[in-house]
Amino acid sequence: MQTNRSSWLSFVSRPVQIGTVAFGGSNPVRLQSMCNTDTMNTEVTVNQCIQIFNAGAHLVRITARNISEAKNLSKIRHQLNEAGYTRPLAADIHFNPEIASAAASRVEKIRINPGNFVHIFPGKTDYSETEYQQELDEAGRILKPIIAICKEHKTAVRIGINHGSLSKRVLSKYGDTPKGMVESAIEYIRLFADEDFHNLLVSMKSSDVRTMIWANRLLAQRMMEESFNYPIHLGVTEAGAGEDGRIKSAIGIGSLLMDGIGDTVRVSLTEAPEKEIPVAAQIVDSSKKLISDSRLSSKYFSKISPYAFELNAFEKKNNVTPDIVSGNAAVSILHPDDIRKAFVKKPESELIFKYTGKSGFNEFLMVCGSAFADGIGNGISCANRIFTNNEQRQIYMMLQSTRRKISTAEFISCPSCGRTEFDIESLLNEVKSRFEHLKDISIAVMGCIVNGPGEMRGANYGILGSAPNKVHLYYKGESVRKNIDQKEAVDTLQKLMTEKGDFKND
Ligand code: SF4
Repeated sequence: MQTNRSSWLSFVSRPVQIGTVAFGGSNPVRLQSMCNTDTMNTEVTVNQCIQIFNAGAHLVRITARNISEAKNLSKIRHQLNEAGYTRPLAADIHFNPEIASAAASRVEKIRINPGNFVHIFPGKTDYSETEYQQELDEAGRILKPIIAICKEHKTAVRIGINHGSLSKRVLSKYGDTPKGMVESAIEYIRLFADEDFHNLLVSMKSSDVRTMIWANRLLAQRMMEESFNYPIHLGVTEAGAGEDGRIKSAIGIGSLLMDGIGDTVRVSLTEAPEKEIPVAAQIVDSSKKLISDSRLSSKYFSKISPYAFELNAFEKKNNVTPDIVSGNAAVSILHPDDIRKAFVKKPESELIFKYTGKSGFNEFLMVCGSAFADGIGNGISCANRIFTNNEQRQIYMMLQSTRRKISTAEFISCPSCGRTEFDIESLLNEVKSRFEHLKDISIAVMGCIVNGPGEMRGANYGILGSAPNKVHLYYKGESVRKNIDQKEAVDTLQKLMTEKGDFKND
């Protein structure tokens, strides 16, 4: 976070050097994306890194699923250097400390997920205090050699918490909550601090925009309480594609940046990764102009929780969900402070947000979306004209993303990575056009069955890549149809939904 930005929390991060680029502290918010190539295919991966860097990324992440892939990062790094691309690379590590060690000497940063790093009690869901501590001690023991390699090579580490893959240990104590996400990170930060290692960044990601916002606010607060100040990486996972993914990302990431939280951003879209960078840049640029006043924000957050959903008093009393309205007294919205001022003044009253046309529509959606995510706001109106059809669609997407009004099926899709072995983007589009009209149903389209089941948690149905051009279908978290050809996936899903009574034609 830049020190000249204000925040009701006043969280100020320390600078962390990642190869040739400094993150956090007074540095600008850095942009990043992730390759979706096969890491063993050096040429294709190098070319994709170049495209992402050319789009303006400060860092590119590459998946390392095994030791061979971790070792191949040396070749990729070397070829990028030769081509004049010296910005840092990060290795994405799941499950395996040996892979983390192998990658840590080859690229400038590694990302580890405490949720799937150490399990000494497989299958256990209920931990005693002693067992809890035993597993944490084991994590500390396993991290020591990795930290030594990182120190030797000046490699940075991101503690990357994902809402969908919290460890059984953390779930047993804190449940599936923002607090669980944050404490999972704090435990690992302490393990690194015990080794006097501070080249750290932290992230709290969720496919649910509100959970992502609450967890990051809580992270900033908890780090301040513990005297930690590591840069925060922001992202909404499985945001999807097209306008939907852009709106979810703008609300989640923008909400936090407007409150001065966040040092680096990754927008996850189910599209070519280089397309994520201009979207991220636009969110960062807009947020810079829209920083909330810290004193006003303190008053605002004394009336509504920053860490959990609280429905505004007007909606609670009148039981009316937010919608597009006309003719009501409305507050012109150009800045988040317009909303915060109005709410602080009359927290019990109806609050309609008016689009004046004096700011960009995307900024208006981001500012209003942030308030709707906080449980504020009762409607949207437009000054001097009616909203276009496209604007109306985007408003409903914003209300859906913040779970204030559900108008279509909910889609969750991962950005894909080296594990994806089918055309996820076209399958997602097919799924959307076939099932969009269904309300109260969530459908996940995920690139793989390794991380997909955890990351799609909560979706009613799922299509997950299982082998080249093959997918498994999931219902309520269980795999119910296996290795379906991608071409037949949507028809098979429709049959399954019909069987379960969830599919109607209109
Ligand atoms: S769900 Fe699988 S394919 Fe999708 S981004 Fe995560 S690891 Fe990659």
